[in-house]
Amino acid sequence: MNLVILGPQGSGKGTQAEMLVEKYGFSHIETGRILRAISASDSPLAEEISKTLSEGKLVSDEILEKVLTEKLSIPSPNGYLFDGTPRNVKQYDLLKYLLGLLGQKIDRLVYIWISEEEVVRRLSSRRTCLKCGNVYNLITNPSPRGNVCACGGELVQRADDSPDAIKKRLTWGFTKEVKQKAEEDGILLEINGERSIEEIHKEIVERLGLNG
Ligand SMILES: [Zn+2]
Repeated sequence: MNLVILGPQGSGKGTQAEMLVEKYGFSHIETGRILRAISASDSPLAEEISKTLSEGKLVSDEILEKVLTEKLSIPSPNGYLFDGTPRNVKQYDLLKYLLGLLGQKIDRLVYIWISEEEVVRRLSSRRTCLKCGNVYNLITNPSPRGNVCACGGELVQRADDSPDAIKKRLTWGFTKEVKQKAEEDGILLEINGERSIEEIHKEIVERLGLNG
């Protein structure tokens, strides 16, 4: 079974993806991490990818196709789990096409839904250590030492974690289009993300028909 996991920043989708990968042996295709690794390598694509990422833009379809093709050339008996792609309908169609070349498809798109208010609440609860850069979250991952990092450094809220900055960079439009497309294709699995990690995981597993 091939899965896509989608959700806004702060939805906990990365955690859910890791749990599924660990338990069910999906091959985890985490596009952001792959692109960051390439940009730090001596690949001929490094410079272009690095520039695109630093501008906060999406990589070109050509680069995405190359990256995905390479990852899909490694067979995964338990299926692939795509995390971070597709970000828009064009990427969705590309992924469908590339899987189609292998005689496969996107079986389910798991969309972890949380409200804008909750995204803002979660992300504005982040605290960063001035000394070592460690990131905590007052709600989900508090420092064992309260207002101080484990290393002793002072914890502060970064300017881009302020509620206004978060609201500004939230982009819902394209995600909504992908979600709509998945619904049309009959593969959408919408999950309420405003619950505990365990509850969300349990529902995903049940609704995908995976064996607990
Ligand atoms: Zn620290």
